[in-house]
Amino acid sequence: MFKKILIANRGEIALRVINACRELGIKTVAVYSEADKDSLHVKFADECICIGPPQSYKSYLHIPSIIAAAEITGADAIHPGYGFLAENAQFAEVCKSCGITFIGPEPDHIRLMGDKAVARQTVMKKNVPVVPGSEGGLSDIGELKSLAAKIGYPVILKASAGGGGKGMRVVWSEDELQSQFETAKNEAMAAFGNPEIYLEKYIVNPRHIEIQIVADKFGHVIYLGERECSIQRNHQKIIEEAPSSVLTDDLRKAMGQAAKKVASAIGYSNVGTVEFLLDKDNNFYFMEMNTRIQVEHTVTEGITDIDLVKLQIELAAGEKLKLKQKDIRITGHAIECRVNAEDPKTFMPSPGKIEAFHTPGGPGIRIDTAAYAGYTVPPYYDSMIAKVIAHGRNREEAIARMKRALEMFLIEGIKTNIPLHLKILEDEFFIKGEINTHFMEEFFRRNE
Ligand code: ADP
Repeated sequence: MFKKILIANRGEIALRVINACRELGIKTVAVYSEADKDSLHVKFADECICIGPPQSYKSYLHIPSIIAAAEITGADAIHPGYGFLAENAQFAEVCKSCGITFIGPEPDHIRLMGDKAVARQTVMKKNVPVVPGSEGGLSDIGELKSLAAKIGYPVILKASAGGGGKGMRVVWSEDELQSQFETAKNEAMAAFGNPEIYLEKYIVNPRHIEIQIVADKFGHVIYLGERECSIQRNHQKIIEEAPSSVLTDDLRKAMGQAAKKVASAIGYSNVGTVEFLLDKDNNFYFMEMNTRIQVEHTVTEGITDIDLVKLQIELAAGEKLKLKQKDIRITGHAIECRVNAEDPKTFMPSPGKIEAFHTPGGPGIRIDTAAYAGYTVPPYYDSMIAKVIAHGRNREEAIARMKRALEMFLIEGIKTNIPLHLKILEDEFFIKGEINTHFMEEFFRRNE
């Protein structure tokens, strides 16, 4: 087992990794930017090293500084968290060549799944259903036109190198195709440095359902059920839950098997998530695979009682997966609300000093946060400052617990989206579980 792990991240996920390391008896190294010197991950890690100025590309994305920090402190592994370098194949490769274990899959897995067009092709070959679309990237507008006509409108243009909900364009008819294609290419180039675009059928009102998989280096793969992540704004998840209220045991099994097939096909190891779209007739289609721990891993931990971060570390150290598929039991229901430092109406980020901070507790409530009273939320990074996770015997109880927890979560000095969460939790369609990826648009229309 590793003796010392460097955490190449900040905020709640850095603390989450520290928790796992402490339980496993592993020492930790925190790296931080100048903007994060008063952060809790710095306080709770065994050692800490400043790696540069506030801007991410000069600190948390700056590979030489992170590797240097690992070498100076003698860390034998690096946990990348999510975001930043978590899905950077080159970083994983550099770690490897420096003799430091990257806690995640192999660089090749990251690279393959990071190119969405290539990922689609790989998965298609294994007979896992993908959204109908192009075989790979498209450059010719004529080819694009005839393919779109064949598939039928609406279609969606996506960046091969895309991520984080960026670089996607829905096209409703042929007259918009050319202009949207140009815009998508420019956006993709600006955001990812790669203009390649591919095309998919646009599924109307789908659910976003993802399967958590876990794999060791010896070819054993299991799945830990699904997460329903349909509550999104601008393709960014806001509330996630598990299990999904629409999955029958048979459908769960079919999607779980498909996800396993994807992982096995490429010899994947460590934790990963296979994302699917589920249409109204319960057809599911592979969308992409995320090769990291996800923000919403907590709801899976809630219903399976498995510590995914500890598992990640053990698997990266080369341990065999002790769990078998038949050992996986799903208990109750879990919901996660992402609390962001933002205006609940305009969604403008609201960084600044937190004057008062009281976290709720009580049965079934878990809070993952790195914020505290007196802490200043810096303007440079993601606005998520806490995750509230409620677990109950059933969905109703989980919702009731989430509601009272959010009502008693006091954050003063900055604005948060807690009022928005509370409104969603009271929405009749949310309560009935009648949700899809357009839920938020319809919710705003209902509440105008
Ligand atoms: P990213 O990696 O940028 O998050 P995804 O491919 O995971 O992009 O897509 C994000 C979201 O966009 C999905 O959860 C879904 O809401 C929507 N989406 C993506 N592809 C399609 C599609 N073919 N049809 C309908 N909605 C889609």
